[in-house]
Amino acid sequence: MSLSSSNPARLGPPERVEVRYEDVPILSKCGFREEALTFLRKRVAHHFPAARIQFSELEKGRPLAEQTSDGPGTDWVIQVSLLNPLLDLELLQAMMRIAIGHGTPVVAVGAVPGTAPVLAGTRAGIRRDGSVPKECHWDTQRKHNSQLNLARLKRVKIFKSLCREFPNLHQLSVAEVLAFCASPAGVQLVIKYGEDVALQSYSRCPLCGSDRSFALHCDVNQPVGGFLTRDSEYYYLCQDCHLVYLNPSMAEEDLWRYYDTHAYEQAYSREELRALYSNLNVLTVSHYANYEAILPELRRLPPNARVLDLGGGMGEFCVFVKNGFPSYDVNLVDFRIHTEAVKELGDRGIHCINKNFTREAFEPESCDLITNWEVIEHLKPERLELYFRMVARALRPSGYYCFSTPDFGNSFSHSLDFWATAPGEHLTVLSRRVLEPILGRCGLRVVQEYHECVTMKAKGRWFAYGSQANSSLASRADAVIIENLLTDDALRESYQSLMRRRQLGSELILCLQKIGGGESP
Ligand SMILES: [Zn+2]
Repeated sequence: MSLSSSNPARLGPPERVEVRYEDVPILSKCGFREEALTFLRKRVAHHFPAARIQFSELEKGRPLAEQTSDGPGTDWVIQVSLLNPLLDLELLQAMMRIAIGHGTPVVAVGAVPGTAPVLAGTRAGIRRDGSVPKECHWDTQRKHNSQLNLARLKRVKIFKSLCREFPNLHQLSVAEVLAFCASPAGVQLVIKYGEDVALQSYSRCPLCGSDRSFALHCDVNQPVGGFLTRDSEYYYLCQDCHLVYLNPSMAEEDLWRYYDTHAYEQAYSREELRALYSNLNVLTVSHYANYEAILPELRRLPPNARVLDLGGGMGEFCVFVKNGFPSYDVNLVDFRIHTEAVKELGDRGIHCINKNFTREAFEPESCDLITNWEVIEHLKPERLELYFRMVARALRPSGYYCFSTPDFGNSFSHSLDFWATAPGEHLTVLSRRVLEPILGRCGLRVVQEYHECVTMKAKGRWFAYGSQANSSLASRADAVIIENLLTDDALRESYQSLMRRRQLGSELILCLQKIGGGESP
């Protein structure tokens, strides 16, 4: 129930509605612009069957008031974004009641992201000089904690899948859509990611076989893929071994589907790659700080050290190593390496190996350093032990295995529900407590632990998003407080140093050596 609906002004059905939409480049880029617009037209027409509705694009950079012509007071102007086709028409009605009552335009606060109009008002209200918009408080985000805007290609793919599942989607209320997303069928649709595949379910913990697991819920922030709600159940915590695992999940042979073009927001040209490689830092590479954390281990390697970065994507870590240690033999290994990257990395003396590194073994005792940056959480939990055995076999006696992964054992991962960022791709959420016994069985011992924090590394990112999209008034305010801290460079850097000293941060970075084979750190 909206806070504003307790004293509604009288509002008859609108006769004329002008919808001014903001175009967004991402939808044109993925070829979904016209479909989003058609969906929005059908949705508005369904809810205002008696009205004359006109759609037109908003001119960028010019205030709405200047773009609005004069007209009778019953004429409505509604500004929307094409990113938000699942417009909440009940919210719009509430905004219109306030607009009539106060004679001002109205904006929404507290709605599920992706469902609110940007602004609604009468022609006269929007054109009135100096009118400050009234706020319409709405509490759907507190109830559902979801994200329905199409600002990411993955969400476009899931939205298309919902359109196929429900041909009458444009007629459904936001509450009806989210009730489906909270159901097991809804969770399956999102985890399937729009693909026609069967999912696998675990009846027991895939690591220890315990039947004592319970579902974890996101109460504050949302997975980046959107559409799941606070009631959706997809990550489970094992009471016995403490593994957090995705359930249901795709079969191993289907996992590649997550990494199609929707997973990569950018198709790099050779020039763009060159620009990226010559400007590697914490702002251009999401886990750059993790690379810097293991500099002590990198410095300990022999002059001709053989380095393998497994699952290294575009090769940022390889470039980082080659820049700092030109004599090292640096190799990027991944399933499918970007063709332009192979050329550009080749020019920098880095070798690229296309290979299923989770299955195909490497030559025994051939490597001085093997790295996995944000890779192991993408592996099926039942494969982890076999995989670590392969890594251990490939290491020379004094070689290092270093990896990073989101750390469920650290409070900084719980903040903003960061641990649940990527259900689907992330099949597990790990911690040293879960990993150390498995690694030990594979002959690997932890010689160093570091922490870095993705959410605290820069302003204008995770907490800025949280200040808009978190579920409650309090959690949005908490995000504002932390975002303010992050805007002061000196304060942020000082706090980051404190976090490193105290082993705090969303990312767990472990460095391991073979038991009995390495030097003491
Ligand atoms: Zn378990």
